[in-house]
Amino acid sequence: MAQTEKQTEVTRRQKQRIYEQHYREKNREKLNFRAQRFREENREKVNDCCKRYREENPEKVKATLQRYREKNREKRKCSDSRYAKENKVKVNAKVLAQYYRKKGTIRQIPCVVCGKVNSEAHHPDYLKPLSVIWLCHLHHARLHHGLIKLKEI
Ligand SMILES: [Zn+2]
Ligand SMILES: [Zn+2]
Repeated sequence: MAQTEKQTEVTRRQKQRIYEQHYREKNREKLNFRAQRFREENREKVNDCCKRYREENPEKVKATLQRYREKNREKRKCSDSRYAKENKVKVNAKVLAQYYRKKGTIRQIPCVVCGKVNSEAHHPDYLKPLSVIWLCHLHHARLHHGLIKLKEI
């Protein structure tokens, strides 16, 4: 008798499991939608939760980040080489500008914004190494940070 009861219990559980699986499959979109809506409605709560988790588990967060970095190392290599290519054009422009300045083809002038004599060559287009704008260190940095626009100069 006990044996049969056990068996019935097992089949009951199996049926339940199959039913749940069916339900999830049938309602996948609905469930996904619900989960998404929950996240949207509770974005601040979720963010707070993440923040607290990060604060309480700095080691775990660090480990996750490390894993992520290792996984993306290959990807990063590719973008590094692209960066190197872009950088080559940039360095090339700088070297050429220096060369032509020494030759006298390009004449260094004071910062076009404030008139400071100690100026740096800025290339609006690295593919045109001879076309430079002279700026002091401060205004050069401001231009690169988008705080001043070329049109304003
Ligand atoms: Zn520049
Ligand atoms: Zn300046």
